Amino acid sequence: MKIDHLGIATKSIEEALRFWQDSLGLENVHTEVVEEQKVRVAMLPIGESRVELLEPISDDSPISKFLEKRGGGIHHIAVEVEDIEVALAKLKAEGARLIDETPRIGAEGCLIAFVHPAATGGVLLELTQKVKE
Ligand code: ZN
Repeated sequence: MKIDHLGIATKSIEEALRFWQDSLGLENVHTEVVEEQKVRVAMLPIGESRVELLEPISDDSPISKFLEKRGGGIHHIAVEVEDIEVALAKLKAEGARLIDETPRIGAEGCLIAFVHPAATGGVLLELTQKVKE
């Protein structure tokens, strides 16, 4: 497994890029809207991982709710797994609380599923499986 990305909630990707891109020197290589989660995302590679900036595109986006409650900051950690169905089945068998019992489609067409912070000691965890080429 590896850390695929760190999801960071922000009110404005443009504003966040002033730090992450202009000041720190990462490069925004990919921006897309993920309609299902009502967010715009920007991906900035860092080593073999990425920073994922998340900006809400509507007031009922999960990211809007997060920003209201907590302000900007780390929203989730994403771990890449070989087989997301196997990983979910194992977590379920272990009694871990899942947000998604079955995978859905995330940014870049990946299969993703979220694990509840109650199961991880307070961190929202995203499992992600790359689409096979
Ligand atoms: Zn993510």
